[in-house]
Amino acid sequence: MILFTCLFGLDRGKGKGKVRQLDLERALTARDRVGVQDMVLLDAHNSETAFLDNLKKRFSEDLIYTYIGTLLISVNPYKELDIYSKRHMDIYMVVNFYELPPHIYALADNAYQTMLAESNNHFILISGESGAGKTEATKKILQYYAVSCPSSSLLNSVRDQMLMSNPILEAFGNAKTLKNDNSSRFGKYMDIQFDCQGDAVGGHILSYLLEKSRVVHQNHGERNFHIFYQLLDGGDEDLLRQLGLGRDTQHYNYLLQGECAKVSSINDRNDWKSVKNALLVMHFELSDIELIGVHVQVLTEALTYRKIEARADEVLCPFTVDHAIYARDALAKAIYGRTFTWLVNRINESLENQDSTRKTVIGLLDIYGFEVFSVNSFEQFCINYCNEKLQQLFIQLTLKAEQEEYEAEGIEWEPVQFFNNKIICDMVEEKHRGIISDEECLMPGDATDLTFLEKMEKKMGNHPHFITQKLADKKTRRTLERGDFRLLHYAGEVTYCVVGFIDKNNDLLYRHLKEVMKQSKNSIMQQCFSSDEVDSRRRPETVATQFKNSLQGLAEILMAKQAWYVRCLKSNDSKQSGRFDDMLVRHQVKYLGLMEHLRVRRAGFAYRKRYEDFLKRYKPLCPDTWPHWRGVPAEGVERLVQHLGYQPDEYTMGRTKIFIRYARTLFATEDAYELC
Ligand code: ATP
Ligand code: MG
Repeated sequence: MILFTCLFGLDRGKGKGKVRQLDLERALTARDRVGVQDMVLLDAHNSETAFLDNLKKRFSEDLIYTYIGTLLISVNPYKELDIYSKRHMDIYMVVNFYELPPHIYALADNAYQTMLAESNNHFILISGESGAGKTEATKKILQYYAVSCPSSSLLNSVRDQMLMSNPILEAFGNAKTLKNDNSSRFGKYMDIQFDCQGDAVGGHILSYLLEKSRVVHQNHGERNFHIFYQLLDGGDEDLLRQLGLGRDTQHYNYLLQGECAKVSSINDRNDWKSVKNALLVMHFELSDIELIGVHVQVLTEALTYRKIEARADEVLCPFTVDHAIYARDALAKAIYGRTFTWLVNRINESLENQDSTRKTVIGLLDIYGFEVFSVNSFEQFCINYCNEKLQQLFIQLTLKAEQEEYEAEGIEWEPVQFFNNKIICDMVEEKHRGIISDEECLMPGDATDLTFLEKMEKKMGNHPHFITQKLADKKTRRTLERGDFRLLHYAGEVTYCVVGFIDKNNDLLYRHLKEVMKQSKNSIMQQCFSSDEVDSRRRPETVATQFKNSLQGLAEILMAKQAWYVRCLKSNDSKQSGRFDDMLVRHQVKYLGLMEHLRVRRAGFAYRKRYEDFLKRYKPLCPDTWPHWRGVPAEGVERLVQHLGYQPDEYTMGRTKIFIRYARTLFATEDAYELC
């Protein structure tokens, strides 16, 4: 009961008034009805069933957020909840975790306050499968910073631009898929830069691997990128006439393949208005929306003839129909992909802060979730590999790092077993032996999708996480086609169809087409197809290799920052509110490693501080350490915590740091400090 009271902040003066304002949980006092708000407090802490039961109880009361220590779990409610108003933002401002019910604002605020107090950089990693709520969570955090950080009119424009970058990037980078009507088809990492007063003063966006193939092909029940439908539905007559477009999506082969141009949850016309408005706020010129600026005859020739260089001559050789289609699709993908990159660069110019004074940052990572369809291709392979990398980062930064620190500090510790997915990351990227490391097998020439598969079979015949029809046992063989390979990901098995892998990975665009685009009168196209590239004879890197390198870069950016985690869970597969599918949630809890995380958390210590730092801050609380402690720091800390009445189970002394088991102990100390 004491714990429970403490969790709801009822025994704390500071949080008391604020808790009263929070309608949602005010009436809910019975623990068995609403569950516990931190999984660390579960009685049966090793039981997955108790864990799920707790999530379900809370979900049925519209309490979608739950903590494991400082990690936030969010279960998608598929309905609007009245918990994101300005009033709620005010309630969560400058309040520690545990003083109020769990909320995405609490996490955002704690990252922000820690950044200010310690002058260091942070990132918030938001993960979960497609449709789990990552992008919504990212937007909520961004809105929180935009509304809650101190403001001055000068900076309002930066804020507006940060918020407005969202509808633009979503229009060009999101699409309706079978899993999510607004699925992000690119990865996004956004740094928000703050000055020393805590004002948001600038930002920078990195985008990762846009799913360009969607421009030319969509599966049944899926759409192309939103922007096409928005333009046709919302664009005014003059603009459409100028672009030579009609309103009917049925006239466009690139838009009708999924047979679902209209989606009930999407209002393309209104969205077009928001995007247009956002483009204006970001100082785009309306004239930027234009035709590609190449003479029709030149383009037609480039799309139907191949230029072959024979000695000093250039010969034009007609394409077959298949080749011409291939060239057309490759060009469409290239134009779209490069325009998207241009758009991100352009947004970055608007968000850039020219001031050279020191800034600290909070990075938000919203990247495509683990994806399994009935047929999985190169795109899913890249997306799922990315999730393996992020899981590896999570392991390194939390589970492994936590346990290594206890060891280094000489703290008695029962190691917690967890599955380390490094073996899978290595299988994908290891030099010469991994799936994407060996450029040879992915290069054009004689290589076909099937010879690529055979090469992989030779290299990875004995790998426990790689199976093909040839390598499978009798029972599994029946479930695999010859052109399939199956990877046992940390999140589950996925069967990939190898057809199209080589083409998509090479992402070839004939030089002739590049030359033609370089001559475009449209300045954006000129920027997208640079002379350097067209003139270069260097073999371009494959898509997978570029992606691997950009993920390596991302990992380095993140490793240098303090991590916060939001784990989004999908409550059901049919996008229905109020439905909690036990099996589906259980599966996500398993592969997100939440039980392991809980075990490490429970066995471990919520906070740690170097002896010197602890003494420096709290020495006024004890006459023995105030104004100076001249002895060994560890002894000073021991004296200090004795004086404060810490119980033996609340802390332990390491080699260089004090480890505090419960957050409430630290908060009580912090309160005493503020009062003194
Ligand atoms: P993807 O990997 O496909 O991009 P995602 O994890 O980014 O998926 P979102 O687009 O954030 O998923 O969420 C999918 C949908 O779920 C939203 O369009 C919205 O309808 C609903 N949703 C998500 N989070 C919330 C929330 N906190 N409150 C209400 N509805 C939500
Ligand atoms: Mg998303």
